[in-house]
Amino acid sequence: MSEEKSLNFIEELIENDLSSGKYKTLVTRFPPEPNGYLHIGHAKAICLNFGLTQKYGGYTNLRFDDTNPVTEKTEYVNSQQEDIQWLGFQWKNELYASDYFDQLHGFAVKLIEKGLAYVDHSTAEEIAMQKGTPTEPGTPSTYRDRSVAENIDWFARMKNGELPDGACTLRAKIDLASSNMLMRDPIIYRIKHAHHHRTGDAWCIYPMYDFAHGQSDSIEHITHSICTLEYVAHRELYDWFIEKLEIFPSKQYEFARLNLTYTVMSKRKLLQLVNEGFVSGWDDPRMPTISGLRRRGYTPESIREFCERIGIAKRENLIELSLLEFCIREDLNKRANRVMAVLDPIKLVITNYPEGQEEILIGENNPEADDKGGTREIPFSNELWIEREDFMEEPAKKWFRLAPGATVRLKHAYIVQCHDFKKDENGNVTEVHCTYIPESKSGSDTSGIHVKGTIHWVSTKHAHTAEVRLYDRLFTVESPDAEEGDFKDYLNPNSVEVIKTAYIEPYLANATTGLGYQFIRKGYFSLDKDSTPGKLIFNRTVGLKDSFKVKA
Ligand code: ATP
Ligand code: MG
Repeated sequence: MSEEKSLNFIEELIENDLSSGKYKTLVTRFPPEPNGYLHIGHAKAICLNFGLTQKYGGYTNLRFDDTNPVTEKTEYVNSQQEDIQWLGFQWKNELYASDYFDQLHGFAVKLIEKGLAYVDHSTAEEIAMQKGTPTEPGTPSTYRDRSVAENIDWFARMKNGELPDGACTLRAKIDLASSNMLMRDPIIYRIKHAHHHRTGDAWCIYPMYDFAHGQSDSIEHITHSICTLEYVAHRELYDWFIEKLEIFPSKQYEFARLNLTYTVMSKRKLLQLVNEGFVSGWDDPRMPTISGLRRRGYTPESIREFCERIGIAKRENLIELSLLEFCIREDLNKRANRVMAVLDPIKLVITNYPEGQEEILIGENNPEADDKGGTREIPFSNELWIEREDFMEEPAKKWFRLAPGATVRLKHAYIVQCHDFKKDENGNVTEVHCTYIPESKSGSDTSGIHVKGTIHWVSTKHAHTAEVRLYDRLFTVESPDAEEGDFKDYLNPNSVEVIKTAYIEPYLANATTGLGYQFIRKGYFSLDKDSTPGKLIFNRTVGLKDSFKVKA
């Protein structure tokens, strides 16, 4: 499939670099900040970086961009690793930007020695004022021209913990008139007396993103450092540091980040949803996190296919959630066994089927699978659970399900005809009475009767129970980020419906997490990780209705 597809712009670039001999080995990296769980946007970057080295050889590093001590946690490091592996990728080296603190500090000293960095005691406000505006050049700080010796001394005091947070910063001395504001003497080190998840209390100065990222790429000899479009303006600075430090010339390339409708995709915002209790955790099945999608029943294949289909763009865009749903539906259609579960039960009594009699019917598991998924045994008796919505007291036009006098097929079983029903004091139907046609058994039907409707059922005597959770979109608007006010104002108050007692066929008692099941006529479901043998819980991954149309 990828053979016939035209190359994306990054692949073109890499093919040129490899064929011109600029690089012998392609080296990419995936550089998450361990400040939250990975989301579907990260999956896009993972598939891109790892996918390129799978295609062209070479390797991909996993580098934790852990230069900010305050927000980072080991829990996040572990979850990020689990999610990458679950997606089907393996990194060559597990690395941490914090492992480079010594080298990065050395790079800063080197810049000072070259007269290209200075310690500035101006406050944050003063520095901001001195920056100027895009149309007016900045003004130099009074500390800009101190001697190398003085800068070395002050930088050492910063490092040795002699100064409180905010007392001063180390700034690169570049160009106060640059049209790129980031080049106007950016801060490269700040004082932060904070405990770091790996280096503990060894450091009280930490490098800024721009001073850490490119140099970390360079230390690892990353050939193609791929990031999202917000970093376009940072590229000039990225190149400047590498040039002045005379280190391996890694190059940065940018692509459009993935934006998806009806959700938000920033770890900071997702953390708010977790901390403020709007969801049950990072892996809540409504979350756009990889762990949430996994718990919801998404497969790695479906997520990789989604990333492949959206491709690599150079312009910002918004992808429809329905495309992601289309990908999982396609995947589960091929792999999920079909089973019967009744979510809103009423009783169907077969009055001419002997009470106490049982038989075992054989059901094909998946007509869409190459091997048909094998078969399973389904017990049948005179009392069944069926869906309330499959019976209508006064049938509408073109109603092919149950109604007084109407005939339907019970899936994998017999044709039945309704002759009576019972209601409770509130007028709700509680029981439907039918007769069955013995010669109409599925697979050996000699009845000659044609029916238009088929409904699913579960034998009451043999049914197991389960809790079933039905999910809807997390937000009510396409782009919660783009709306006025707080994004949380647009949360969907009905994003989950819990059915405490659904009836499921016995086969499902042995359900396993990670395998999808199609509840016939109800959608694709997967066993929740919180299930126990005594209490099964199923999450609806996606409905059956295909609202997405693939363009031809
Ligand atoms: P967030 O705001 O969600 O924390 P981030 O960009 O700060 O996102 P990082 O952990 O720094 O998160 O990202 C690691 C890598 O994943 C980066 O290379 C980043 O460009 C990429 N990435 C993050 N979000 C997306 C997205 N929505 N689409 C594509 N790539 C993304
Ligand atoms: Mg980030």
